[in-house]
Amino acid sequence: MQRFNTARDAAMKLRPDDPIYCFHPEVLKADTRRFMGFFPGKTAYAVKTNGEELVLKTLAEAGVQTFDVASPAEFKAVRNVAPDAEMLYMHPIKAQSDIRLALETYGIRVTVVDHEDEITKLTRVVRALDIDPGQMTVFVRLQTKGHAAYELSKKFGAGPAHAVELLQRLSRTGYKVGLCFHVGSQIEDPDTYERALASADWVRNRAGVPIVELDVGGGFPAEYGHDPNRKTPNLPSLDELMAQLRGDITEWGFGDMPLVAEPGRVIVARAFSLIVRVLLRKGRRLYINDGIWASLSDSWTGKITLPARFIPDPAIRQRNGDETKIVPFKVCGATCDSVDILSRPFWLPETVDTGDWIEIGHIGAYSLSLRTRFNGFYPDTFVQVDTPFHEGDAPQGFASLETMAD
Ligand SMILES: *Cc1c(COP(=O)(O)O)cnc(C)c1O
Repeated sequence: MQRFNTARDAAMKLRPDDPIYCFHPEVLKADTRRFMGFFPGKTAYAVKTNGEELVLKTLAEAGVQTFDVASPAEFKAVRNVAPDAEMLYMHPIKAQSDIRLALETYGIRVTVVDHEDEITKLTRVVRALDIDPGQMTVFVRLQTKGHAAYELSKKFGAGPAHAVELLQRLSRTGYKVGLCFHVGSQIEDPDTYERALASADWVRNRAGVPIVELDVGGGFPAEYGHDPNRKTPNLPSLDELMAQLRGDITEWGFGDMPLVAEPGRVIVARAFSLIVRVLLRKGRRLYINDGIWASLSDSWTGKITLPARFIPDPAIRQRNGDETKIVPFKVCGATCDSVDILSRPFWLPETVDTGDWIEIGHIGAYSLSLRTRFNGFYPDTFVQVDTPFHEGDAPQGFASLETMAD
């Protein structure tokens, strides 16, 4: 992989027409260790957030020994880079053949259910493979209510009374049982975890079976850009949030229990930035070589403020406008799809033009993993960049919440 000091250096040297992922391995390691320092239990990285081999390898180097996996492809990706790592199979709804593969081929012994039919499937495989259920920890996933940018409780999780029954049934069959929840991604309310812990406590007290582990899921917010035209949201910093979580864990009586967290976004968001090129400027629209079907689907939802830095092409000698004036541009993606337009404008210097580049920061989470081959555009070029995005010159731009007219 080619290595550069800054994304600007990479753009000047490569003059790329394809999007370039700038990997910042030291940021990934630092953000990983920071989270692990805050969390008093096992850190199980959620592989779906970004399952690139270079990410999994770097995480293993940073000391991650546990991975949250959901599919055969994820089992394999983890096993390839970290043969000794523990895998937690934390998808509540599974194909029976995938359960078998997990238990038989990958030796996975930790999983999750939110319905009795999933217990039936699991037990069929456990019996067929002659595994002692006491060798397995099965979590029951609780429904949660809270405020996150991406809510998941409508899709997964058992209500409290149902969770009590599931725990009792698992325990009768001989499994070790745990409780888990996942509050959604990029939480927006610091009390979200406490509400989930209160619910876990209620379920534990009613179930009357020994609970061996508590898994608090993911959802920890990553730092994104700030739109200077808006008040910064009053979400506490990560260290405050984690201190609050540790306090809540103790307060709800889970302090002496082995704990697991499944962070994704908070660990990997800042580990990548993306260099895109302006293929055409048409008035206040910029047509770029990436978009919602490639690296920018997460920003398309409009819930995240991505910071952006202007990288002017020095070959452009004549420019119109005032480079100190920051104005909004509508950003259109590379595909022929009419919905491939970012939901938020990017604010950039008025002088931006066809042929210039833009470095978009903090795209490490849910962007590489969600890219498609739609229309044949599939960004897949990586360089290593040593200067973290947040340490370079201040970003000029950001994707704002303000919508703009055509
Ligand atoms: C996606 C997911 C995570 C990671 O969520 P982040 O918000 O990226 O931290 C953790 N646990 C489960 C069960 C998930 O589905």
